[in-house]
Amino acid sequence: MKEIEKAIRGEVLTKEEIVTLLSITDKNEMEELFAAARQVREKTFGKKIFMYGFVYFSTWCRNNCNFCYYRKSNNIERYRKDPKEVVELAVRLAESGVHLLDLTMGEDPTYHKENFASVLKIAEDIKKETGLPVMLSPGVISDELIDSFAELGVEWFALYQETHNREIFKNLRINQDYDERMHAKLYAKEKGILIEEGLLAGIGENYEDIAESILEMKKIGASQVRVMSFIPQKGSPMESVHTPGRELELKIIALLRLVHPKALIPASLDVDGIEGLQCRIDSGSNVVTSIIPPLTGLAGVAQNSMDVDEGGRTVQEVSAILREMGMEPATALDYRTYIDQLFAENGK
Ligand code: SF4
Repeated sequence: MKEIEKAIRGEVLTKEEIVTLLSITDKNEMEELFAAARQVREKTFGKKIFMYGFVYFSTWCRNNCNFCYYRKSNNIERYRKDPKEVVELAVRLAESGVHLLDLTMGEDPTYHKENFASVLKIAEDIKKETGLPVMLSPGVISDELIDSFAELGVEWFALYQETHNREIFKNLRINQDYDERMHAKLYAKEKGILIEEGLLAGIGENYEDIAESILEMKKIGASQVRVMSFIPQKGSPMESVHTPGRELELKIIALLRLVHPKALIPASLDVDGIEGLQCRIDSGSNVVTSIIPPLTGLAGVAQNSMDVDEGGRTVQEVSAILREMGMEPATALDYRTYIDQLFAENGK
């Protein structure tokens, strides 16, 4: 297809071209799309795949996003891990061989009340104890707090819009401000932190909306871009909305790769567990996210328990699958070298 050839040449696809490729249903054309994504990935990353450890340390949240299991109104069991335990878990993950620690929390009112003192301490201790880069997903926070995390040397700030269609955003993220969320991300980038942006597939968007998201992520300079399929959550207002067929997510991964050749693109174990790893890597992802140590009582986000306690979401398991696929688990040094390059490109 001429759009695919254009992307392989390194030219940025237009919105119309992205929509054309998202519309593919023919199996051969789809395979052509995925093969192109792999080719583009290989040019920058060779066969290397990065792995992120996931520590979801507070499931309390002040918000009521319609798609989320952990929304405030959902009557569920919640936890807020003790800071010491969070650091211990992170050390365990680091020892298991992950390349980054993804520190995630809901917008926990307790952290907001204490101006994130314990989260700052957690991030500081984890950086000191593990020496690994850290990604922070705290939700929307003030510029002053972003300054504090930048001073600590936090490498990544993850905050997902989930859609760049303001109408859909309003229905998903109830009583939240699109611009405020976007501002936090852009401010973090201005302060020299790498940013991750994300979209959710299957929430009532059309191909034009998806294409706009892919291009918007480029415009804001996100260094990591992710898509996840919507998973209906028990007790949420979207409980009866069906999860989309996975072809959509895989096509979006491939298009993210074609439009963002050098980006880190997650294959999240959070959607379909370890079973879903290979197809996402085959579509152009180069980071395995949501690696969780077993038997720790920690949850995932979209699938709060899938494969966690069975030990399926570990570096060992992931590395074995990657090797079988002819891919190579990267090293922590590979990862550090790559993000240093990203910092240099961002002028920091
Ligand atoms: S998506 Fe995040 S901000 Fe929204 S309710 Fe869930 S945990 Fe809270």
